[in-house]
Amino acid sequence: MSEAIKNVGVIGAGTMGAGIAGLCAATGVNVTLLDLETETAQKAIERLMSGKRPAITEDQAKLITPGSLKTDLQSLENCDWLCEAVVEDVNIKRDLFSKLETVRKDGSVLTTNTSGIPLRDIYKDMPERMQKDIAVTHFFNPVHLMKLVELVPGSKTDPSAITRLADYLSGPMGKGVVYAKDTVNFIGNRIGCNWMLSGLHKAAYSGLSMETVDALMSKPIGLPPTGLYGLIDLIGLDVMDFVAKNLEQNLPKDDAGRDYLKMPDAENAMLAAGQLGRKTGGGFYKLTKSDSGEKSMEVFDLSSQSWRPMSPADLDARHQNIKTLMFSDDAEGKFAWDLMSSTLGYSSSLVPEISKDIVNVDRAMRWGFAWAEGPFEMLDAIGPAQFAEKYAGAGNNVDGMLKVLLDSGKESFYSGNKYLGTDGEYHEIPGE
Ligand code: NAD
Repeated sequence: MSEAIKNVGVIGAGTMGAGIAGLCAATGVNVTLLDLETETAQKAIERLMSGKRPAITEDQAKLITPGSLKTDLQSLENCDWLCEAVVEDVNIKRDLFSKLETVRKDGSVLTTNTSGIPLRDIYKDMPERMQKDIAVTHFFNPVHLMKLVELVPGSKTDPSAITRLADYLSGPMGKGVVYAKDTVNFIGNRIGCNWMLSGLHKAAYSGLSMETVDALMSKPIGLPPTGLYGLIDLIGLDVMDFVAKNLEQNLPKDDAGRDYLKMPDAENAMLAAGQLGRKTGGGFYKLTKSDSGEKSMEVFDLSSQSWRPMSPADLDARHQNIKTLMFSDDAEGKFAWDLMSSTLGYSSSLVPEISKDIVNVDRAMRWGFAWAEGPFEMLDAIGPAQFAEKYAGAGNNVDGMLKVLLDSGKESFYSGNKYLGTDGEYHEIPGE
């Protein structure tokens, strides 16, 4: 058990709050789980214990006490960590934080599980005492399976509060902690959502089939088997639309991600028709069952806006390796270069804006998006100098960490157990 965190309060017993409460209980700490009604928290605990592979045992569930914010706010007074996971609404979160401040004990850490609201918008004009103990803990869904937690301090947060929490998250909770800055969508979603939104546009004008796009954007690049369209089917076009609107509001004015904030017309038509993804029975792909019970996969043809049988892609050997693929002069290679070069160039330009170093960026993409390698590890596999030459040749700005690397005369972002810092020198990679 962690020395510093023995009692946890989780507020909001939905998908994320329940997951966080369950994981905490599994570490043996006492958890108070509050929602608007006690019944909501009680049902969340029951859900954690049910299913084929329950997230917690009955004994662990006994460590979680359900309650309601109306009647049980005071029960949070002994908590060492208070984790807010209510709906994504800055006013609701601020109102709740004001209430929590009246009951929490000195030295407790207060965090929000927001996926996109800037932390400063939550603590603005709040008491100094709160500002010293506040942070973002951005868990990924499903909480018990995804390794990543992005930890984001505010401008006045006491470093010891961050250390206490990080020790618990990476120790008993078994999470991979990534330190991010208070910028829109933090690290994982800033890069991952840019990859998805720009990917929809670049795939549309590549002339390649959906099956080929997904075959390329998976194993050959070191990305999960869902590829591009399959991943968006999992997430849902409604969530993508929400993410794009948040980026529109909060991305810096000159950010390269601004070129891809609107989804293509075909995807917007699907959104309007409620064809959102797996949650609505199909988005880009759907599983159908014939009368005889035979299952088959269908693909939604974006140009004709109609379903057709899936036809698995058969990739050439040169399309199965990141380096040969990205330098291959055919439709597959051009598409892979188009999408991945802009993703890698964008990642390079974002350090140190979103993270103090490349290590946290690479870990965020590995632990939160299940990429086999993060952007800088991928660049090392491709050859950063060769990449930069082609990237600049296509009229792009070589900036951020790629420029640091070229100016430093070094040949790779990693060398043994060292990484290239923003100062152009190698530094020891910090422990996970
Ligand atoms: P959810 O809709 O599943 O649950 C939200 C819970 O908050 C509900 O149980 C609701 O009753 C409760 N609630 C609403 N208003 C409240 C209030 N005023 N006071 C107390 N409780 C209130 O939402 P979720 O998916 O668990 O998301 C929670 C937070 O986590 C959001 O900020 C979201 O952006 C963030 N997040 C979600 C995901 C995800 O994939 N679901 C991933 C990362 C972060």
